[in-house]
Order: sequence, then structure tokens, then C-alpha cells
Amino acid sequence: MKKGKLLLTALFAIVFLTAPYFGFGQKCQTSHKRAERIAHHPEIQLEMDRINHFTEQWISEQKTSVQQRAVVTLPVVVHVVYLNDAENISDAQIMSQIDVLNEDFRKLNANFSNTPAAFQSIAADVEIEFCLASIDPDGNPTNGITRTLTTVAELGETENFYKTASGGHDPWDNTKYINIWVCNQEEGSLGFATPPGTASPIESDGIVIPSVYFGTIGTAAGSAPNHLGRTCTHEMGHYFNLEHIWGPTEGGCYEDDFVTDTPEQDVESGGCPTFPFTDYCTSGGNGINFQNYLDYSDDDCMTMFTEGQKLRMLAAVNGPRASLLSSNACSSMVATTDLYRFENAISVFPNPASQLLTIAIDNDYATADSKWKLIDVLGKSHLEFTMTEKKELNIAHLPEGVYYLTCSDFPKTAKKIIITK
Ligand SMILES: [Zn+2]
Repeated sequence: MKKGKLLLTALFAIVFLTAPYFGFGQKCQTSHKRAERIAHHPEIQLEMDRINHFTEQWISEQKTSVQQRAVVTLPVVVHVVYLNDAENISDAQIMSQIDVLNEDFRKLNANFSNTPAAFQSIAADVEIEFCLASIDPDGNPTNGITRTLTTVAELGETENFYKTASGGHDPWDNTKYINIWVCNQEEGSLGFATPPGTASPIESDGIVIPSVYFGTIGTAAGSAPNHLGRTCTHEMGHYFNLEHIWGPTEGGCYEDDFVTDTPEQDVESGGCPTFPFTDYCTSGGNGINFQNYLDYSDDDCMTMFTEGQKLRMLAAVNGPRASLLSSNACSSMVATTDLYRFENAISVFPNPASQLLTIAIDNDYATADSKWKLIDVLGKSHLEFTMTEKKELNIAHLPEGVYYLTCSDFPKTAKKIIITK
């Protein structure tokens, strides 16, 4: 629910600048840590005000123009900084987290069907996808994961997590990669993020999550009710400028999350209430949106972002986070002769496709021995085949999303395929 901006600015000024943080058992440290930074660097408040003003403008412009938006894929680097073997989580556990992000942000999460009809109508496909970076800052191939042994306990509570020299790991260019540090934090903390314009210094910009809450398998499997990767979905929401659904500080009906379609909410939810669940601020109707990723409900209770939250996140992608769009770190496509040949020798149609996909290739560029694959954004192969000249693929069984067509003759390149349903 959106309310007066002046009131909120005053609220930030009073609560963040003058009052100490009282610690109200928050699982997510984003608001608390932001308040600490503002107390030391009041200019952050001015930058937040500027970004929020831009956001309002951008959203109002979208509503007056019909604009087709393309799905964007943004690069993630995961820095695993571990105290012991258990914290050095597997590549598969990290990939399970990227899967959750992609499902939740595209409204492809299996538990979306649990969303009450009253809220399904405002639930959004955010049209943002994530990849583990395939190109590092030096232009070399990478799996998008760094691994560092540390001796610093509760690293996430310190100013060391983003410093290699102090037992953490330096970020990759914060303007080109979404940096996620998976490291030890104090008991009870599930993580935090830096909303746009609030990192200080900029090297700390990103997300911090303890290993046991990252992903859905391995060490995360035993972390119920925070075992389904939704901590990262929640923190990624903050990274793209979403506030908690009850508001930026400790709650109350006077607080605003700057989003028009989220019901007013008093304080954070816990566990999994039964729909409809009402509170002091929304005492009737459909009640509060405790299914929202920006609440504190259990992981298996959360199912959705709203359309209003989507607009706010897309404003961030097109504003303070826009540098991510020009990053080539998601793409395995590099400027080589191979790329030129591959791009020009094959044609794929239709694209986007839903049932059948036809691939045609000039035989000068590939042979009957060439191995072709249709892979997803994580590199998982869904179809493998050989072909000469032309091939018709049945893709009706594949989930919608972004895929890449690869050919063994052109290992450094791939052709992007969109599958829709
Ligand atoms: Zn939070």
C-alpha cells in the first residue's frame, strides 16, 4: 500500500538517523544494516530519495504507454567464503538456488497454485532471469563461483566479507555482476542485501546469505522452514529496491512499501497463516498478502511478487541497476569468427516457439558428426541430436524459458531460443 512520500521521508529521518536499532528479531538484516549506514553516511538518504523519485516517475510513464518488455537475464557471481567443509557448498546446491530465483521471478514456482485466487490476479511474472556468470571480469570463462577458505567467524557481520585481504572475497565489478557472498553470519540471521544506492562502500553492494539458507539441497535441505531458497528471492527483491511488505522499518499502518497493490500490513508474518488473514491495518476482505516474498512467512508459504512490486523492480533494472543490462557476463557468445559463422550459417524458426522448432543450417558449416544440444540457462541439456541441413524438434514438453542451441563445432557460441507456452 502506497502512502505519502513526505511522511516516509520524515520517518526515515526520525527512525534511521536518530533512533538506535532495537532489534526486533528480524530474520533479514537489510533494513537494520541500511539504517546503520545512513546513520554514518546521511547522504545515502538523499540518494535513496533521488532513486525513489526516479522510480515514481518511471512507473507513471509505464502506465501511460504500452511498452513490450523483453525478458532480461542478469549475471550472478557467487562467492563461497567458508570456515569449514560443510560451508563449502556444492556447485549443485548453488545451481539449485539459481533455479529457485528463475522460477520465482518468472512465476514458474511449483507452489504458485497455492496462491489464493484473490491474489493470483495481482501476481507478477517479473520477467527477470538470472545466470551464473560465464565470463569473469578478465574475460575468461568461469562457472560464476569463487571459493575461499577463511578463518573469520560470522564474516557477514563484519566489513570483511567483500575484502580478500581481510578473509573475504573482493567483489567482481558491482556494476556488471550481482555479487552474492555465501558466508557465515550470526545465529538467527538469514541474510541481507543492499538496495540500490545504499551500499557503502560500493564494493559491498550485493547480497549476503549463510550457506545453510542458500539453495534447496545439500546443507540447505535441513533448514526448514527456510529450506527452499526463498531467502535469496526475498533479498534479490531488496537488491531491486523492494521494501518489506509492511514498510521500511518496524511496521505500523503509517508505513509504506511504495507499492500500490500490496495490502497495508502492520508487521511481519511468521509461519504460514490461513487465508484470509487479517490484521490491524487490513482488517477485512482478502486480508494481508502473507504469501508475498517480501514478508517473513515460511519458504513453502511464499508464492508471489505483485505487479506493483514488478514495476518497482523493473524501474531499478532500467535505472540505478541499468549497468547490469550491458554486462556480457551471462553470455557465452564472444566476438570470434566462429560466432559470426554460427550466427549466419543457421536459422531457427519460429523464435519464440512453443510446439515445434525448425533448425536449418548451411552444410558448409557443420557436418553429420556435429553434436547439437538445446541447453537451459544453467547449461543443463534438454535435447541432443545430430542433423544435416534441416531438423524439426518437438519442444512441446519443455517448460517455458530461455534456452541455448549449441553445436560441438562452435564451442564458444550459442543461439538463444525462447520457449513460450
Ligand atoms: Zn528483508
